[in-house]
Amino acid sequence: MDMTRIRDRMVEHHVTRRGIRDPGVTEAMRTVPREKFVPPGSEEFAYEDAPLSIGEGQTISQPFIVALMLEKADLDAGDTVLEVGTGSGYASALMSRIARRVYSIERHERLALEAKERFEKLGYRNIDVRVGDGSKGWAEAAPFDAIIVSASAPEVPTALKEQLGLGGRLIIPVGRGEGQRLKRLTRTGATAFEEEDLGGVRFVPLIGEDAWTATHPMYTATAPSLPKTVASEPSSPQDTQGGGMGKIDKLPTLPEGVLDHSEFQQRFWAVQRISWIVFTLLLVTCLLGLLGRGGPFSRQTLQLPDGSVDFPIISRWNAPEDMTVTFTPSSEDRVFTIDPAFLQTFSIQGVDPPQKATFTRAGRIGYVFPADPAGPTQIVFRLQTQLPGRLRATIGMGGETRTQSTFIFP
Ligand code: SAM
Repeated sequence: MDMTRIRDRMVEHHVTRRGIRDPGVTEAMRTVPREKFVPPGSEEFAYEDAPLSIGEGQTISQPFIVALMLEKADLDAGDTVLEVGTGSGYASALMSRIARRVYSIERHERLALEAKERFEKLGYRNIDVRVGDGSKGWAEAAPFDAIIVSASAPEVPTALKEQLGLGGRLIIPVGRGEGQRLKRLTRTGATAFEEEDLGGVRFVPLIGEDAWTATHPMYTATAPSLPKTVASEPSSPQDTQGGGMGKIDKLPTLPEGVLDHSEFQQRFWAVQRISWIVFTLLLVTCLLGLLGRGGPFSRQTLQLPDGSVDFPIISRWNAPEDMTVTFTPSSEDRVFTIDPAFLQTFSIQGVDPPQKATFTRAGRIGYVFPADPAGPTQIVFRLQTQLPGRLRATIGMGGETRTQSTFIFP
């Protein structure tokens, strides 16, 4: 299945509209098939702006956060880049479409091997993957123009700072749980770094020698696997990814991503929902309006013992419609009654033959037509209101009455 259009829409909705402008990043996101980086069966969710479980208690990152990190890394075509936390390989694949060479480290062997296979299948030949502890960096490949760390560290690992080239950018989430901040460090000298705070985020922990450890009292939990969970308190070390798995005490809105995401997303969804409702109402209105202009359901005929009433069901104020009352030929006088309110919206346009008397009884206006055994008697009313809405009229022909409704659309 060709997912190009869905991918383009994801980039438009979740990346460009949220402020990511770097053409290199957006182009890479339009090119790399994210559906090939999610587990089989999850392809349909590949283009939602959400992290997805990839096994080993890990996640493929939310597209927006990846885009944000790449934009902040300010990648160039000639750059050598390091990603710590290969995961599915999606972020590394994106980097490989922008930079010259990508080095990617993953501590889970299975994930690293799967990512490698994906790169081979997709023909991304400028990525080297290694299984190991990324908190130590990749010294043999250093210096790097940019380092992106896709898991949150307790503090910026020294090795990563040292492996940055002059002018190099290190993008790294630092902190724990809801307190994580995304940081950018730019190397400005041998030992000088400029540090910027890029906002609150939520990532899985970076587990390694220079990061959180399995026994670290701060991090007894590791990546939440979907459904979303986050751990907060120490408990027995039993870990799907090597660190201790802690007690689950809280359900976060997202296991990973930008912290303002849920609020933003909720507002976005609310606006989207309202837009859909307005759009649907407009569509229905137009459709009904169209039907009202001679469409198959635009008119109805009521049959009564003395004759019939043909009236518009749907009408438009700028396309006046007739209501025609027809008495069948008869050798006796006929009586027609109507409520006065109706005459404020429909005016009598023609009566043939003319009535011989008019009367008011029980709050209704009545017309008496002379007997005419030779031909039918017709009264034609014409819609004259310009107010949209529902008009109801109770029509009396002889001893029978019927109520009819006409809907007027603008
Ligand atoms: N960027 C990835 C993607 O696009 O799929 C997602 C990365 S996932 C959020 C974080 C990854 O970091 C996990 O696969 C986890 O195993 C890995 N990780 C955690 N600590 C690590 C370490 N010290 N060295 C290497 N990888 C580590």
